[in-house]
Amino acid sequence: MIQVHMFPCLKDNYGYLVHDAEANVTAAIDTPDVPAIRRALEEKEWRLTHILNTHHHSDHAGGNLELKAQTGCQIIGPGADAERIPGIDISVGDGDEFRLGHHRVQVFDTPGHTRGHIVYLLPDDGIAFVGDTLFSLGCGRLFEGTAAQMWSSLQKLLAWPDATLLYCAHEYTQANGQFASTLEPQNPDLVARLAEVHDSRAAGRPTVPTTLAQEKATNPFLRPTSAELKISVGLPDAPPVEVFARTRELKDAF
Ligand SMILES: [Zn+2]
Repeated sequence: MIQVHMFPCLKDNYGYLVHDAEANVTAAIDTPDVPAIRRALEEKEWRLTHILNTHHHSDHAGGNLELKAQTGCQIIGPGADAERIPGIDISVGDGDEFRLGHHRVQVFDTPGHTRGHIVYLLPDDGIAFVGDTLFSLGCGRLFEGTAAQMWSSLQKLLAWPDATLLYCAHEYTQANGQFASTLEPQNPDLVARLAEVHDSRAAGRPTVPTTLAQEKATNPFLRPTSAELKISVGLPDAPPVEVFARTRELKDAF
């Protein structure tokens, strides 16, 4: 069995520890906040053995060297961006598979937010760590990639089983929902999700993880074939990649 311990840190990041008790292996997914990660390790009485980086941004890889110095852990990250991942030991990329303890981990290149962004799927556990590629009701900003690249990245996630639990790196759901509701106000799944998100946040609860099924039903960036959304963005007859690109532009200006 794999255990996932999540904890909020910085302004709106989530830190994650992934633990295989049988193998006594613990991975931090990215290193947003060293003190928060250390507190979480102490609280769980887990020893850090790995860091799995999704991309180079400082709120994802900024704590790598300090944690590696303190624990001697091994750092796994995107080979396409190895020079920007501090302390990287093992470079991975699209199609690679490795084991974390006894658990299979599959790697997918998802360029768009950054050119080297990768995500990690644990197919036998039905969980994935998607960094800043996908958020609940949103997706990452295109800092280093094109809309076409990001759309092709998101299609890799869309091929996963619907029940896959998606652990995103930020709590952005409420703000994302305000934008989503301008595009698909008639989408009943979105209306229900927004109410649930409102209640969760009012009670101080996270809205993450989400499921792929839920995002397919509600996330405007995964819905460029929705008739209502296509009309809302002014492209009723455009192909998905163009609808996606326009949706991203509208969100940037929202
Ligand atoms: Zn980022």
